[in-house]
Parts: sequence; C-alpha cells; structure tokens
Amino acid sequence: MNIFDGALTRLKSAAKIINLDKSILDSLSNPERIIELSLPLKRNNGKTEVFKGYRVQYNNWLGPYKGGLRFHPQVDMDEVKSLSFWMMIKNAIADVPFGGGKGGIELDPKSLDVSELEKLTRQFAKSLAPNIGPLVDVPAPDVNTNSQILDWVEDEYAKITKDKSKAVVTGKSIKNGGSLGREEATGLGGFFVLEELIKKLNFKKPLTVAIQGFGNVGSNIATILCSNGYKIVAVSDIKGGIYDSKEMGFNIELVRACRLEKGKLAGCYCIGSVCDLAPKNDGVITNEQLLELDVDILIPAALENVITKENADKIRAKIVFEMANGPTTVEADEILNRKGIMVVPDVLANSGGVTVSYFEWYQNMHKEKWSLEKVNEKLKEKMVKAFDEIWKIHKEKKVNLRMAAYILALQRLTKKAKIS
Ligand code: NAD
Repeated sequence: MNIFDGALTRLKSAAKIINLDKSILDSLSNPERIIELSLPLKRNNGKTEVFKGYRVQYNNWLGPYKGGLRFHPQVDMDEVKSLSFWMMIKNAIADVPFGGGKGGIELDPKSLDVSELEKLTRQFAKSLAPNIGPLVDVPAPDVNTNSQILDWVEDEYAKITKDKSKAVVTGKSIKNGGSLGREEATGLGGFFVLEELIKKLNFKKPLTVAIQGFGNVGSNIATILCSNGYKIVAVSDIKGGIYDSKEMGFNIELVRACRLEKGKLAGCYCIGSVCDLAPKNDGVITNEQLLELDVDILIPAALENVITKENADKIRAKIVFEMANGPTTVEADEILNRKGIMVVPDVLANSGGVTVSYFEWYQNMHKEKWSLEKVNEKLKEKMVKAFDEIWKIHKEKKVNLRMAAYILALQRLTKKAKIS
C-alpha cells in the first residue's frame, strides 16, 4: 500500500465510525490543488541540473493552507500528498485556523553548497509566489529545511509581491520575524502531551526512551525529556545510533556538543551528527535495532514508514510516540494495537510545531512580539486541550488514539465544510 492510500484508509475508518456524510468524505479524499515544478539550477561547475519541486494544497476549509517544505531525495508526489493530508488533520486537531498543505524538492541538500542551495530555494520561492501568501498558503520548515531556508523564501516572496508582513512563511529566524520558541516547539509540544499521557496511564518516572532521528524534532525532545526525569537510552540519525546498554541515560547536552564538534555538513544542514559519535562508542546500533529495544517509550522522529508489518511484531516499547509524520504503516498499526502498545499519533504528538507556527503568523499579522514564556504557556494550553479532547473520544467511543484524533478532526472539518 502506498502512503497516500494508507492515509485514506485511516480517513475511511474514522469516517465509518462517525457515519460521516459521503460528500464530505469524497471531498477530503482528494487534494484541492497540486503544483508540480521543474527547477533548473546552474551548478557552480557550470552544469545545469533540473530538480522537481512540489506543493500540494490539500484543503482550506479551516483557513489558509499550511505545512512544511521538505528537501529530501525521497520527496515525491505520493509523499507530499500524504503529508499535506496529515497537515489538514493536524491543524484541525490543534484548532488553528489553517488548512493542510505541504511541499518540497526532490533533492539531497548535502549535495549542494550554500550558494547553490540559496539559488535553488529562491527559484522554488519565485515559482510558488503566485500561489502562496499570508491568507492563501503559508509554508514552514520540515526535514532538511530550517530558518535560513524560510528566510530566503520570505525574502523572495516580499521582493515579488512587496508584502512586508513576513507572514507568508513561518519558522523564520527571530531577526526576520520568527517567533521565540518555534525552534523547540515541536519537541516541547510533544513533551506536554507525553506528560499528560503518562499521568493517565499511571506510569512512574524514570521511564526509558529510544529516539530515532536527531534533527530539530528528535534532538529537542531528547533535551527536554532528559531534563524532566526521563532516561534517553538510545538515539540515532541517518547513519546509525548509539545505545546506552546500562540504561543510565545519555547526557543529551554532551551528545549534542559532540555532534556539533564532529559534524561535517555541506551547506547549513544537520550541524553535527550522532553518527560521528557512534563508531567510538561500544553501544553502536542500527536504526532497525533501535526500534526494537525494550524501552518504555519509543519515539520515531525521522521519516515515515519505519514501523511496518515486517518489524511491528518485534516492537517491545509500551508506548510508540510518533514525533515523525507517518512513521507507522496501517498494517503495523493493527499489529501494535493487537499487542496492546499505545500509539500516540503524529497528528497529535507533533502538532506543537504548527501551533507555534500559528503564533508566529499571528504575531506577524498583528505586528506583535510575544515573550518566550507567553509562547510556551499558550503552547501548553493548546497541547493539553487537544490531548484531553482526544482522550475523551478514545474512552467514549472505545477507539484507539489515532482514530480518536481523526474523529475530532473530521468533526471540526465538517462544521466548516465548503461544498456548494
Ligand atoms: P531534520 O531534518 O531536522 O532531522 C531529521 C533527522 O532524521 C536527522 O537526524 C536525520 O539524520 C534523521 N534521518 C533521516 N533519514 C533517516 C533514516 N532513514 N533513518 C534514521 N534517521 C534518519 O527534520 P525534523 O524537522 O526533525 O523532522 C523529523 C520528522 O518530524 C519528520 O517526519 C517531519 O515531518 C516531522 N515534523 C517536523 C516538524 C518541525 O517543526 N520540524 C513538525 C512536525 C513534524
């Protein structure tokens, strides 16, 4: 099953439980607009290479399309469509006035130097400019994109449209209109949800945690959990992982520092990498082994489709906490459910990022600057509220948390349906 079919399978299951109107289900089963771009780049060696760019504007019943830009070799239409669909569900759950969108370029950003990356990003922004805007479609960061990339997109858009509000994208640098707290928001939002969940489950700290992916999301949630009584016993990035078999828990600050010191990154990416730490460490593990560790909480925080029907039976964690988008396939979900493993779905667990993106957009639109305390306080409020609403549906309808989350989203979308 491809990932978009998987996304629709979950939509249909939730629709069935609440007897969703067929016209709503049909409307939500297809994106409203698909943009496919050809992006020629003259490389520094004089040769021209053509890259494929995408933006899918899935649905805007709740507000402007909103979702990240991903630069990765695996980016294709099926992936971007799925990610934009999940953004629609996530934004409805987070109760922010946005619809779903997502975009990206099929590219390994490490293959370009910074000047080439800037040229390509600006070309992408120019091509997208007629179809994005603060009240139309608001991109943000995702895998391999950061505040620098979003600053370039904002700058290019402002040059073309003369719009100086900065609200066309979120995840910008602070000096360019970004919000305090956006960088850590996805990890912090996840932490707020996890704290609520362990209270409900009556789990006592210290709890052991394994995290796959050590980028923005993985490294931030690792730092926050580490200073709040959790033991991070394994972390990994694309090149592999490290495992603390004595289960003392890593000092995440040291891991981060080592990553920074050893990191060798083309362009402005992935400053440092735990893979450089791994070869010197006894506890070197593969990404596959990390997923199968006997820990309390497993946090996939890299890419989609890592827990599949092939390895789901080997998962030993008590909670799978999805910080990545789409890490668990439909088939794997069924196996985990059968095994009694609690899966906290991506659309809830990682919605802190878009929540603070909304705060950033709001501050830009209203020319406000919020303190970090205000941002984090409001983030906590929203995350706890979303968790409580989903938990209530989970209990009342006796459905798993993913179905409960989809039901909440579908109820909100139905109220704002635009069907003529
Ligand atoms: P990032 O580029 O900062 O980091 C990605 C991490 O995953 C890196 O450590 C990379 O080495 C690792 N990785 C890549 N391929 C891998 C593989 N095959 N196996 C193991 N590790 C691999 O990206 P990010 O922003 O941290 O995003 C991670 C996930 O979280 C994605 O699914 C993204 O869609 C999701 N997400 C991100 C945000 C956000 O605010 N950045 C918000 C919501 C969801």
